[in-house]
Amino acid sequence: MDLHHVVIVGSGPAGLTAAIYCARAGLEPVVVEGLLAGGQLVNTTDVENYPGFPEGIQGPELMDRFRKQAERFGAAFVPGDVVRADFSSRPFAVWTDERELRARAVIVATGASPRPLGVEGEKEYAGRGVSYCATCDGFFFRGKEIVVVGGGDSALEEALFLARYGSRVSVIHRRDAFRASKIMAERVLRSPKIEVVWSSVVEGVAGDGRKVTEVRVRNVETGAVSTRPCAGFFVAIGHVPNTAAFRGVLPADAAGYLEVHGGSSYTSVDGVFAAGDVHDHTYRQAITAAGAGCRAAIDCERWLEAQGG
Ligand code: NAP
Repeated sequence: MDLHHVVIVGSGPAGLTAAIYCARAGLEPVVVEGLLAGGQLVNTTDVENYPGFPEGIQGPELMDRFRKQAERFGAAFVPGDVVRADFSSRPFAVWTDERELRARAVIVATGASPRPLGVEGEKEYAGRGVSYCATCDGFFFRGKEIVVVGGGDSALEEALFLARYGSRVSVIHRRDAFRASKIMAERVLRSPKIEVVWSSVVEGVAGDGRKVTEVRVRNVETGAVSTRPCAGFFVAIGHVPNTAAFRGVLPADAAGYLEVHGGSSYTSVDGVFAAGDVHDHTYRQAITAAGAGCRAAIDCERWLEAQGG
């Protein structure tokens, strides 16, 4: 079996930036792409805050450029998800469903996935009206009633995108103020297509057995419960880290985010590094993930060198 200098797990901004730096350092990295190759940005449209693109850029195109840049310096790509890892001895081992990879160092950059709301009907109607990705599914709800849950940037971005399609978009938020940035909040509040339902939670999703038809909403201040017609129900309430394959292998906090030392990318396993949303629940931006990927690659390169090249 081939022994690689470094295996990078994940191909979002963190993983691909790590790949660019590792490849340029001559480490011939192998990137395990994950099921969502390119990471969360492939499910977005306009990226307006990534520096260097004054007119904005589409998420999938941005990630395509990252990848091409990594390939240009010799990074190799392996499809699939890492399902298991053994970091108890060196060389380290990671497994996808198809193969086993051995490496002297590993950079974990598996990112995060949308958090489910956990209400009645959500699982039952997943893919039949319940969605976690407006750019993937918005098109199916042209001229229909759409509900978005959440008050952060993700929810408002989804709502603005969905306003192109829906007859009406209701943003249901559990508080009376958005968490999202001011610019996003202003855009939503200005949109004639979007109605904000403050201080309310969705208690359940109901349908006709085939598709979603309504949601049950409770006002948290008055306790009043009402139903709202809904064909498309979009949940955008944050994310959970993709760390299942590393449970019991790498230390994580109560929410599952990997722990790193200080501001570095070092995990508590020597030779295993973490970068991006898999450990950062504070910033979670493409640019901070890319920066973290750079740091992990530099930490990794220095660590390998200290081990004897
Ligand atoms: P977030 O900022 O953590 O916001 C999550 C939202 O969901 C909050 O409003 C929260 O309510 C609500 N929420 C959480 N759990 C809930 C529950 N069980 N029921 C109902 N509501 C619930 O997550 P995010 O919006 O995914 O954003 C994550 C990061 O990515 C942020 O740093 C954001 O700035 C960034 N981002 C940036 C852009 C952009 O710049 N264009 C786009 C997307 C994301 P509370 O407010 O009450 O806590």
